[in-house]
Amino acid sequence: MTARILVVDDIPANVKLLEARLMAEYFDVLTASNGRDALDICDRTQVDVILLDIMMPEMDGFEVCERLKSNPRTAHIPVVMVTALDQPSDRVRGLQAGADDFLTKPVNDLQLISRVKSLVRLKTLTDELRIRHDTTRKAGLDDMLRLQDGRLEDQAQVLLVDSRGASQERIIKSLKPIAEVFAMSDPQAAVFEAAENPLDLVIVNSNLEDYDPLRLCSQIRSLERTRFIPILLITEQGDEQMIIRALDLGVNDYIVRPLDPNELIARTLTQVRRKRYNDRLRNSVRQTIELAVTDGLTGLHNRRYLDTHLRTLFARAKVRGRPLTICITDIDRFKQVNDVYGHDAGDEVLKEFAGRIRSTVRGADLACRFGGEEFVVVMPDTAADVAATVAERLRGMIEARPFQLRSGETPLMLTASMGIATLGPGIETPEQLLKQADRALYEAKNSGRNRVVAAAA
Ligand code: GH3
Ligand code: MG
Ligand code: MG
Repeated sequence: MTARILVVDDIPANVKLLEARLMAEYFDVLTASNGRDALDICDRTQVDVILLDIMMPEMDGFEVCERLKSNPRTAHIPVVMVTALDQPSDRVRGLQAGADDFLTKPVNDLQLISRVKSLVRLKTLTDELRIRHDTTRKAGLDDMLRLQDGRLEDQAQVLLVDSRGASQERIIKSLKPIAEVFAMSDPQAAVFEAAENPLDLVIVNSNLEDYDPLRLCSQIRSLERTRFIPILLITEQGDEQMIIRALDLGVNDYIVRPLDPNELIARTLTQVRRKRYNDRLRNSVRQTIELAVTDGLTGLHNRRYLDTHLRTLFARAKVRGRPLTICITDIDRFKQVNDVYGHDAGDEVLKEFAGRIRSTVRGADLACRFGGEEFVVVMPDTAADVAATVAERLRGMIEARPFQLRSGETPLMLTASMGIATLGPGIETPEQLLKQADRALYEAKNSGRNRVVAAAA
């Protein structure tokens, strides 16, 4: 993971120290010795995470943070406040100024690197979403994808695994402003709970009775249904070995006892945000794929999808020695519908036609709009005679039921012609299969329309 980190501190020795540690992890490091320079750098170049000292002359860290967060160009950059241990009130002010995380001086190596990495990951996701958001806005698909800016639109759902009642209560109370927390003391039952419910975060307190907390973490990480849920581990002061192993196992973040409520809130928020970004990203990828392979007018799969999927079905049928039949159907004299009733009426007919195809074919069949008023149905595991029956049924359904237009005109009597072709000797590619079906369709048109013709085997 390479990212650009800006270190801001008025004391040169502090800057040097952080810079050296970050560079040892191959981060690209920029430095500033005062707030004004820091703002300037963020405005001019791309920065992924900011480590911000609080006590600085002229403009202190709180003010720098507030300015960063109120500028749309820099508001999305995660800010880590570097606070002195003896000033817990700084954390509250930091949160109010919009800080995303805290580090305490003297800065611990492990904390520094794990926190920066965690925020860089979050930033990478945010950036990805911002780019997509831009693209979809340009493509006019804004309303369809509707990506928010990573704010928590509803309360976070958090599962807390903790053996002690008093500690459970404290954590529930601390997180009350941002999360609904379900507490459990039985780790095994907690795994079930996590698998069954939509959760944004699991908090594991390492003081479990008779149970290795890392084992619980590793179970949550490895189960299909829970592996995307972030985990926050609560550990003892000085338990570096456990922390290192936990981070190796995929635990996302940790927090050291005694718990600072503000720190708990900040870390919970970071993890929950990341989870929600991830979910959105996955959804938007899914939606983008769906849009790319769907015909906008009829909702059937489009030509692009057919080309890809037919190749798969074709290869599979060949290997398994199973039949495969395709049917191309074309509405008869469709041009007249447009000419007489207008293009919108033509569109209505196409939608209705697609609906009738959908209701005729089996679930395993693939129905696509091939283009214009031509449709293709791919029927796996289907021999020519059975496919001919299906095609005949579809033909009959088109002919028998007139198409009622919304404009209330008298219903249109329409027919369609169909050509079918089956995988057999001499057919080596999906293109050849399509060509055969197309030839059969041509024959159906030439011999009077409103009929099904099967290509000679
Ligand atoms: P045939 O019986 O030989 O198939 O005659 P036809 O009129 O159906 O065939 P032709 O290929 O001459 O015309 C097809 C028409 O379909 C022409 C085109 O304008 C129309 N068309 C293609 N795509 C769309 C569409 O998305 N919406 C509408 N309304 N019409 C379309
Ligand atoms: Mg036609
Ligand atoms: Mg045509």
